[in-house]
This record gives sequence, structure tokens and C-alpha cells, in this order.
Amino acid sequence: MKKNLSLLFAAAFVFLSLSACGAPREYASDFFAMDTYMSSKTYGTDASGAVKEEAERLESLFSVTDENSEIGVLNVKGSVKASTETVELIEKALEISEKTDGALDITVYPAVKAWGFTTGDYAVPSPERIEELRALTDYEKVDIDGDTVSVPEGFMIDLGAVAKGYLGDRVRVILKDSGITSAIADLGGNIVTVGDKPDGSPWRVAIRDPNGDGSVGVIEVTDKCVVTSGGYERYFTDENGVKRWHIIDPATAQPADGGLLSATVIGEGCVLCDGLSTAIFVMGAEKAKALWQSEGGFEMILVTKAGEVLVTDGIKDSFFLDGGSGYELKVIG
Ligand code: AMP
Ligand code: MG
Repeated sequence: MKKNLSLLFAAAFVFLSLSACGAPREYASDFFAMDTYMSSKTYGTDASGAVKEEAERLESLFSVTDENSEIGVLNVKGSVKASTETVELIEKALEISEKTDGALDITVYPAVKAWGFTTGDYAVPSPERIEELRALTDYEKVDIDGDTVSVPEGFMIDLGAVAKGYLGDRVRVILKDSGITSAIADLGGNIVTVGDKPDGSPWRVAIRDPNGDGSVGVIEVTDKCVVTSGGYERYFTDENGVKRWHIIDPATAQPADGGLLSATVIGEGCVLCDGLSTAIFVMGAEKAKALWQSEGGFEMILVTKAGEVLVTDGIKDSFFLDGGSGYELKVIG
């Protein structure tokens, strides 16, 4: 009885001290980097400066529009002596290209540029130019020799499909090293979460409706990356009224048309999620399903042109369709 009483007192003490502390303080910040809006929320410790600094540091390595970045030098000179980080990210991207049959291809930059997606001078290239651009796209031609990366004449690299994912992985490490156990950052459509929400419940990440301002639903995650690639993010409308978006099919050097409006990939590693979300947008639902079945290690939410939301089996209980969204939910098994 005495033991039970002291246990009760101990429990009451823990409860009282927790409520006296209250919820940990929230530190929120937003900023512009890597050509997109980013934001972060950390609990207990302020790390907003560190997140922004890391985004700026990586931008100075990977930017395609900065001729002094490592990628900028490579694209001008055809070769660069690069940092270990850049070499490793290129290697990782090439591995994802292998897995996705070239749907992710970092040498797609001549096409991305010709369509105007970095300059804002949007244009539909002529059929002859398209043929040239196709010949300038082939990830197998990227040569890595120690710390030197080289590409054939006329080839150019763009790490835009994986750079924000890499930032996500770095931010996770930086936050955890600062002792932060609860945080969420939106790195331009790449959501990275650390632990759970401060109240112990999972983070709830809304998946945007590609056709409107609302969401198709919400996914609950703990300590994961949620990365979306979508046609709605950056596009122009051509003279025939067709939407031309920034994700290019390396096989055609034209905006990808895999039947998807957006592809979201959820997993542990943000580079993999980022690379896969871009690739899956190109591949379409059928090939994506085959990849998910053969590779595993990630989950996905696909919004199709046909008005469906396809979610993989591993997240069917943590995804909640927005009832009013008008989409039909289907599970990929
Ligand atoms: P994300 O938003 O991660 O899907 O990346 C899209 C960006 O990656 C584009 O803005 C281009 O800079 C580049 N990109 C477009 N298509 C591809 C592709 N098929 N493979 C690799 N990078 C691409
Ligand atoms: Mg990507």
C-alpha cells in the first residue's frame, strides 16, 4: 500500500512538473533560397539561422544560374574539380537514374534551359532542336574520376531534382545535432520532419490539390521526408493552350506526360524521395507501382489526371483523403 502511494506521488510529481514547463517554445522562420520559399519550425531550440545558412551554402555549390558554383563551372567548362559532397550527390542521382530507367536524368539541363525554365524565357523548341536536346541528354555519359566530374561537349548538369532533398537530409542532421527532437521544415515542396509534434502526435502534412488551392488529403508521418513533384509548381501555357511544365521526360526532351498531376514520395532519405518523386512524375503510375514493388523502401501518393489519388499499401492507414476534394482514393497493393 505504502509502495503504491509513493508511486502515485511520483506520477503526480511528473505530471505537475510537465504541466509547469508547458509546451516547448516554437521558433518559426521563413526565407527564400534555391529559387523557392522555405520555412522551418523548431521546438525548444532556435535553429532558423542554421537552416537558412545551409540552404545558401548548398545553393552556392549547386546553382545552375551561378557560373561560379561547382555545377556552374562544370556546365561552362565541361569539367570541374568538385567537393566530396557534390560528387556524392551526383553519384546518388546516377544510382536513382539506373533504378528508374533514366526517368531521372541530371543531364536534362540543356532541355530544361531551352524550354525556358531557368531563364523565364518560355518557348517550345522546334522539332530539330528537340532532336539535338535529346542527343545532349544521357546520364551514362557523366564521368567521375576521383573528385573530377566531366561531361561531353554541349552536355550540362542540373541537380534541381535532388538538391532540395539533399538539403532536407542535411537539415535533419543539423537539427538533431543541436539536440532538437521535434521540428518540421518546408524546403520548397520538400517537407522534412524530425520526430513527432511536441505533443507526441505525428506530423500532419497536407498534399496539395494540383487543380486548386486546397489539398487532396493529409498524411501523418514521424521523422520522415514527404517530397512532391508536380506540374503545377512551374509551368507556362503554350499557344495551343497546353500546360508545359518544368519536369522533362529525358527520352523526349519535352515536358513529361506520364498521366500524373503530382507524385509524392515518403521515406527516410530525402535525396531518394526527391529523386524518385521527379522520376515517378515522368514514369507514371504503372511503372511507379512496379518500382515500388521491386525496390521498396518508400511509399507514394499519386494524383492522376483521371481524378484518382493512389496511395501505397504501407501508408493507407496514415493517409486521410479530403472528403470534399472530389478525388477517388485507391490503394496500390
Ligand atoms: P523536382 O521539383 O524535384 O521534381 O525537380 C524538378 C527540377 O529538376 C526541374 O525544375 C529541372 O530543373 C530538373 N528536372 C526536370 N526534369 C528532370 C528529370 N527528368 N530528371 C532530372 N532533373 C529534372
Ligand atoms: Mg525531385
